[in-house]
Amino acid sequence: MAIRNITQMGDPVLRKRCKEVTAFDARLHQLLDDMIDTLHKAEGLGLAAPQVGVLKRVCIVEYDDVLYELVNPVLLSSNGSCVDNEGCLSVAGFRGLVRRPQQIEISYFDRHGNKQHLEAEGYFARVFLHEMDHLDGVLFADKMIKKIIDED
Ligand code: ZN
Repeated sequence: MAIRNITQMGDPVLRKRCKEVTAFDARLHQLLDDMIDTLHKAEGLGLAAPQVGVLKRVCIVEYDDVLYELVNPVLLSSNGSCVDNEGCLSVAGFRGLVRRPQQIEISYFDRHGNKQHLEAEGYFARVFLHEMDHLDGVLFADKMIKKIIDED
């Protein structure tokens, strides 16, 4: 278990398309464990592998005290649309209003390679979509319709 450094906007690693995971091995488990430690230290809602410099399709989300580990996540369907406030551990100094689907259905693999399915809506859905964007090199700052500068 270890805290890893979180890459910041401007680092090219955040702009690459991540590769599919093919081995559900000890190395993947180490990456996930380190990402969990790093997320807890940073007190965020989610973290994607490129944010710790690893170009693999892996992200984690912690929402309502439940931790989700997503390997090779795929968006199966989405419905509706809503605008809400987002920030990112890789983007210091501002947040932004971003339009995203209201409801989503995703599939992914857990750390052992078992296929999982999940439906989410509202802010819960938003956190998954934000993290999944990271796997394609997309940041919320690319999509925001209004920039919100943090006070102080
Ligand atoms: Zn982010």
